[in-house]
Amino acid sequence: MKKRTFFVMLILFLIFLNSMILVVSIVILKDKLAADRDRCLSEHYVIATSLIGDMQALKQRESEVQENISKLMRVYSRYLQGKGDGLAVSYCGEWIYESSPLMPTENLGFAPDTGSRQERIVCLENEPAPILCVYGNFPAPWQDYGLMYIGNLEGMVSSWRHTKNILFLTGAAAMFVMALFLFQFLNIIFRPLRQISRASAKIANGNYESRIPVRGKDEIASVAHHFNLMAGQVETQIQKLRDAARQKQQFIDNFSHELRIPLTAIYGYAEYIQKASVPEEERYECTQFIMSECNRLQNMAYQLLNIALLRNEDMEEETCPVSSLFAQSKKVMNVKAAEKNIKLFYTLPQNLFIRGNAQQLLILLNNLIDNAMKASQTGEEVRVSAYSRKSGTVVEVEDHGIGIDPDSLSHIKEAFYRVDKARSRAAGGTGLGLSICESIVQLHHAEMIFASEPGEGTTVRLYFPKAVEEESFTSS
Ligand code: ADP
Repeated sequence: MKKRTFFVMLILFLIFLNSMILVVSIVILKDKLAADRDRCLSEHYVIATSLIGDMQALKQRESEVQENISKLMRVYSRYLQGKGDGLAVSYCGEWIYESSPLMPTENLGFAPDTGSRQERIVCLENEPAPILCVYGNFPAPWQDYGLMYIGNLEGMVSSWRHTKNILFLTGAAAMFVMALFLFQFLNIIFRPLRQISRASAKIANGNYESRIPVRGKDEIASVAHHFNLMAGQVETQIQKLRDAARQKQQFIDNFSHELRIPLTAIYGYAEYIQKASVPEEERYECTQFIMSECNRLQNMAYQLLNIALLRNEDMEEETCPVSSLFAQSKKVMNVKAAEKNIKLFYTLPQNLFIRGNAQQLLILLNNLIDNAMKASQTGEEVRVSAYSRKSGTVVEVEDHGIGIDPDSLSHIKEAFYRVDKARSRAAGGTGLGLSICESIVQLHHAEMIFASEPGEGTTVRLYFPKAVEEESFTSS
């Protein structure tokens, strides 16, 4: 592209420059020719007038004019020798005197022509030198005589050729300067395109951080700016895909690990019961363990099913009253709380609404309450409350259990992450609960924030955006 532009522009400039030089040299030639023509005309006039005077003087002295014409002409020819010009005289259509070696041999078209007093000019590409001829017949009584002035144009033509050569040499130098300038100019113009091309090649090779420097505010700067935006988007999307692939791989690794441990244990215990003569008490413990592991696997299957359901993007939305959400949660969680002897309180000071899927919201709330109960000791309190904020509804689950250390706090939403693995496993935990909660929270454009102190307890707050009904409810 750059080469093509360079050559096209150079050729156009070459054509333009040479045409200009040609026009200028033709104008110069015409001017010089006009000056020489004027000179020849005036010389012809002066010599013709003087010659007529001489011829008249000869006639008065009754000498033969025709015979003495050569003698008369020699004086004028000598005068013209220095200039290189010549003279010729005709009588009754015949050349009777020629002084110049430049005398044209061919027919000039105005060969002596009696009666005509008109002067004529012919410029010839004559050999050995170019000439300009002025011819005119004398007035009566000398109308049989005519004088031709032969102007030597060699000096003028060679001076013109010299000027023309200088012009073409200057043109060639200008051409060279122009080529250098054009090359530099195109380098500057094409530099951003080269950078874009290099950056695209890098991105195509997987180097997604590649960017182009943006200079100025012209169209090319705008292209570079948009290219950088596009590269940024590509980089972000690729990073997201990588993260998603990494998370997926991590999920599969964790899942197979989580599956292998209980299955190995179940198989080991079952084999032990089958082979050894195990006392009744030990057999009971083994079957108890097998049942609790099966229970955990069942939980895991249930949670995985929840994850699969959440991936299904068509979520049925409705405006859910928090009161009915709490009522449904109470039905399930009160039984669990009673089993663990935990005091579970629900507080709802006013009628509040959350826009979303009631089933998913219930899973979210119950998971958080379940975690709070798992972290609490027998006899401790777990409080569930909801209140309104300017931005929307806040649901809070508070416990006074073991709490979470700051390091673990940043990981608890990851799938299969558990702060205390043994404790969680013993409680039937799968490590999937909070990961599911986070997915539900994101689907509802909400936010889940943990505040925890080890040994003091944990408070989880869910920030939901304002539901439309709640807005009208508050304003009415
Ligand atoms: P699990 O099935 O083990 O409960 P979760 O994903 O629900 O899995 O929770 C991840 C981990 O976060 C739990 O194993 C637990 O260690 C910790 N955790 C969650 N909620 C609380 C809480 N309220 N108090 C203390 N630790 C908690």
